[in-house]
Amino acid sequence: MDIKTVGVVGAGQMGNGIAHVFALAGFEVLLNDISQEALDKAMARIEKNLERQVSREKISEAEKAAALSRIRTTTTLSELGTSDLIVESATERETVKQAIFEDLLPHLKPETILTTNTSSISITRLATRTDRPEKFMGFHFMNPVPVMQLVELIRGIATDEATYKTLLKVVEKLGKTAASAEDFPAFIVNRILMPMINEAVYTLYEGVGNVRSIDESLKLGANHPMGPLELADFIGLDTCLAIMNVLHEGLADTKYRPCPLLTKYVEAGWLGRKTQRGFYDYRGETPVPTR
Ligand code: NAD
Repeated sequence: MDIKTVGVVGAGQMGNGIAHVFALAGFEVLLNDISQEALDKAMARIEKNLERQVSREKISEAEKAAALSRIRTTTTLSELGTSDLIVESATERETVKQAIFEDLLPHLKPETILTTNTSSISITRLATRTDRPEKFMGFHFMNPVPVMQLVELIRGIATDEATYKTLLKVVEKLGKTAASAEDFPAFIVNRILMPMINEAVYTLYEGVGNVRSIDESLKLGANHPMGPLELADFIGLDTCLAIMNVLHEGLADTKYRPCPLLTKYVEAGWLGRKTQRGFYDYRGETPVPTR
């Protein structure tokens, strides 16, 4: 199937990036959110990020203008029904995602492919709530979407080969690289990354190192571009905790138990960059370790 129009549901941190890369690659994008304010913020963010690509000479002024002209916004979900492809990227809550697919179904074309950008919810389970589990897949982008090269493609038990092949072509058109993952908790990237971050928090909790020594060690000793605690603050400590809980519950192995210190930071509302405090305090000129 030739995908030309894409409906993106949820215009948050990820949704705006997804709309950005699709529009830049020539797809017509209809971006939806329940909040008009989120849509306005997303459009402002997309324009700013495209402008940054122009100033770095990655794209031309004309490409920026063309991409912007390909994105429309709406708070009416049913308008997305005529899309060839839906990318759901709303809040990470199963009931929210189920309700979105249920509300969309009566308006969809029979051939529309449904995908979700979920980081942790079962693709197979979400697919069963739709009329087309064979045309349903996980389409997992990395943050920030315009910068990161990888996209994980996750097939549910019922996903058919034609849907998978269509999405492989879409990823290629986006200029990104696909990694195929099976539908098990946290897929590939987060299955490996989150236990590493959680272990870094244990290393801090047990006093083996402090915030700075742990981050420096991984940057200089393992050639990681960011330290694990700095990265956790970037992702959001609530998100890290939620994914560790999914691994712990989904795989029933104590090696995935979330570190009590990670839970404590989340209880404090110190969620990382988005709340200005996490393993570092971002309220001043330069980030200062909080432990
Ligand atoms: P976010 O909180 O920044 O944005 C979520 C958006 O969804 C909000 O604007 C909210 O208004 C909107 N929304 C809520 N209910 C809706 C509904 N019924 N219809 C339409 N819009 C609705 O969250 P995010 O970080 O952009 O995450 C979105 C999805 O992407 C989640 O499934 C998350 O797991 C996944 N994801 C996140 C990251 C990350 O690093 N943040 C990385 C990969 C995947």
